[in-house]
Amino acid sequence: MALAVTHIIGTILILDLFRHYVFGKKAFPRYLLVVGGVAGILPDIDIIIGKLVSWMSGTTVNLHGVFSHSLFIPVLFVGIGFFLQYNENMDTAKWYYVIAAGWFLHIILDCGFNAYSTFLWPLHIDTMRFCPSKLAGIYRSGIDAILLVVWLVHEEVHNKIKEYF
Ligand SMILES: [Zn+2]
Repeated sequence: MALAVTHIIGTILILDLFRHYVFGKKAFPRYLLVVGGVAGILPDIDIIIGKLVSWMSGTTVNLHGVFSHSLFIPVLFVGIGFFLQYNENMDTAKWYYVIAAGWFLHIILDCGFNAYSTFLWPLHIDTMRFCPSKLAGIYRSGIDAILLVVWLVHEEVHNKIKEYF
């Protein structure tokens, strides 16, 4: 897995670039960046669930990188978003789209840092060989700083940094 902060900052950075260059501020309110940032770390809830199950069962259970790291979850969120959009509930649909994006980016980042074989769970297709996972160890601890600097420079260049304070 990538580091927790990488998941949050990386997701917010990418969503903010989409907000800036694709959707615009009106269609993409800033609070959705927070929703996306939280969604960017949410798949790792399986670590907490695994610890809870271990604690309750008295045996070590590791659920990390299994069901919550399946690409079908963001697909499901996009599907719900489509349904809500079709029923003219665009404000709620945006939440589902942003959560889907954050969840998807988490899986992509994990794929870059440390592949799991379960990205297509519950299908038994080994996804390990599709992931480069070469970034682990090389940039793992430095990537947060790189992402943060890129984002801050982008915001400063566009004179938007005061929006965040
Ligand atoms: Zn993960």
